[in-house]
Amino acid sequence: MVLDSFRLDGRVALVTGGNRGIGQALATALAQAGADVALLGRGDPGGTVARVAALGRRTLVVHTDLATATPNELADAVATVTANLGGLDILVNNAGTIRRADAADHSPDDWDAVLRVNLDAVFHLSRAAGRHMLPRGAGKIINIASMLSFQGGIRVPSYTAAKHAVVGLTRALANEWAARGVNVNAIAPGYIATDNTAPLRADVDRERAIRERIPAGRWGDPDDLTGAAVFLASDAARYVHGAVLPVDGGWLAR
Ligand code: NAP
Repeated sequence: MVLDSFRLDGRVALVTGGNRGIGQALATALAQAGADVALLGRGDPGGTVARVAALGRRTLVVHTDLATATPNELADAVATVTANLGGLDILVNNAGTIRRADAADHSPDDWDAVLRVNLDAVFHLSRAAGRHMLPRGAGKIINIASMLSFQGGIRVPSYTAAKHAVVGLTRALANEWAARGVNVNAIAPGYIATDNTAPLRADVDRERAIRERIPAGRWGDPDDLTGAAVFLASDAARYVHGAVLPVDGGWLAR
């Protein structure tokens, strides 16, 4: 039955940045679909742990700051998950940061911080996950891209560069790994109401300009992304490779 192919029972997922915002919604949804969920991040994921546990799934917290972790430390983090939860079937590279400043004033520190979290960590975690998944001939990697994977954005050059690169990396890994049973895809969220976009929503003119450009007529909610994530994490997406799935209220169609 097709709906059974969306189930994630017995799978192990690793979600980065799962303590709040989109990551919390995705971690909860994966657990609702049946997966055990490891949470990798630097903040307190207690709220998400409670949600996953309430669903009867196992959780594991891996404390890691993606801005400073070395590639070896990220590989160790993946190994901690496989050792404690018995494997790794799904990696969601969700954690992200943003620095808003005009390009001419964008500091090298801001550039480095954003690229480390939003791009470098995505590669190093995907590589470590791939090394576990490829010999088993199965696995799902979901990267969280952005509208700024397609557009230049306003005053966020490091974020835009990283999110464009995430799409390129998604396709590059998919090219290599599709034939080996590992699906690598991305979700490109539109404008979602989280802490990431709080400054935009606090600016009355900017908030209205964004909302009026969204065909759906409203900002997205983190839960709007959960169906796409469960789909890409599941057997239902077994022939989907290198795709970038916009969940954007129609923003890109405009
Ligand atoms: P958010 O509420 O600001 O959450 C960001 C998450 O990333 C938090 O869990 C945060 O952990 C984590 N993170 C940031 N820096 C980290 C670091 N150095 N080490 C470990 N974890 C770190 O933002 P969000 O909107 O949910 O964003 C989630 C993803 O969606 C990001 O990749 C973002 O770029 C992407 N996205 C968001 C939107 C949107 O409209 N909101 C649109 C497109 C794409 P802490 O709590 O410890 O800071």
